Amino acid sequence: MHLREPIGTARRVVVKVGSASLTSSGGGIDPVQIDALADAIAQRHSQGVELILVSSGAVASGFASLGLRTKPRDAASKQASASVGQMLLVARYAASFARYNLVVGQVLLTAEDLLRRSQYRSAKRTFDRLLALKALPVVNENDTVATAQNKFGDNDRLAALVAHVVHADALVLLSDVAGLYTDDPRRAGARLLEQVMGESDLAEVSVSSSGSSGIGSGGMASKIAAARIATAAGVHVVLANATHAHAALAGEPVGTYFAPTGSRLPIRLLWLRHVATPAGQLVIDSGALRAVTDRHASLLAAGVTRLHGEFDAGDPVEVVGPDGVVVAHGLVGYDSRALPQLLGKSTPMLAAEHQREVIHRDDMVLLPPLGVFPENVAKKRGFRTFSLKTSASADGFSGGAG
Ligand code: GLU
Repeated sequence: MHLREPIGTARRVVVKVGSASLTSSGGGIDPVQIDALADAIAQRHSQGVELILVSSGAVASGFASLGLRTKPRDAASKQASASVGQMLLVARYAASFARYNLVVGQVLLTAEDLLRRSQYRSAKRTFDRLLALKALPVVNENDTVATAQNKFGDNDRLAALVAHVVHADALVLLSDVAGLYTDDPRRAGARLLEQVMGESDLAEVSVSSSGSSGIGSGGMASKIAAARIATAAGVHVVLANATHAHAALAGEPVGTYFAPTGSRLPIRLLWLRHVATPAGQLVIDSGALRAVTDRHASLLAAGVTRLHGEFDAGDPVEVVGPDGVVVAHGLVGYDSRALPQLLGKSTPMLAAEHQREVIHRDDMVLLPPLGVFPENVAKKRGFRTFSLKTSASADGFSGGAG
């Protein structure tokens, strides 16, 4: 079996296409590119493959109709443009797929929708029913209501999470770049990677090379992030130029193939692991670090030495070891106003209402040992810092119960 065979034989596929491959730089939809994409998707559909299209391009399709000359940067104008552009875009898809008698259904999501169990299950039900009825779900972020806090970050990540939600076999990321290069493709010596079998193959990639036209918002870093999310959930991924959609969907050797590296995680933990914008950081001592990483224990106040940022209870935060390495992401049990008073205190020293965990083990996901995030990163992100004044007990964990 050759490597990409699972793409060509996949039964359920998520296709993601970026703004630059759908719209012209002056704003507005490019019908020729939409039709070419629809041709490739409709062909797979006619072979019995279930497809979900995640399409960007709402903002890029809408701003010109509102009399704006360039793609807006402020949130209000982006939301207004998305409101206008999403309709135009979906109407264009409906017309294009109608050439093949293929019905499209619009699904707009925010990150919160995939985090909350009831909404997540409801979204999954919509996808499953649309697919059973042989329709093509066309997905975008619900840009008119998504806030900085509940945004996916970009549609590459959204597509990877959708692939997880619908249990897709494959994710095909279509872009205006030919694939993943070791460096900016305009630079001499930059090489296209034909396959990425795991993290070690990514070591030679310089991610600052975005290689994109400035229309889309993704860039190469978000393509890699999306590929990591999807492959970690057992999904085969291809990144290719949108003009090669047909070949990419057939599993032919275009662009870059990313092999699955793991198996499914619950969606909540998957989201938490790859969360785009943590609201703050908790720095923990070495005792708590061992408890959290070796025994996957809950994090208690006694083990937290410092916190950075302002957050509400329930927000995602990074858990940082004493050496500055981010070891886990978790949903914090206290807000950043209440937490400083609790730092370093062992459970019996705390009032009854403060005796619960700072992060419950079920709300925490360990990270593979990747990056070091020293404090200047916290500063760069504008997090405020609170430190423990008195000396902490090393006993900062719950003994693995819970
Ligand atoms: N949701 C945005 C749009 O449709 C695009 C986000 C992205 O490009 O990743 O305009």
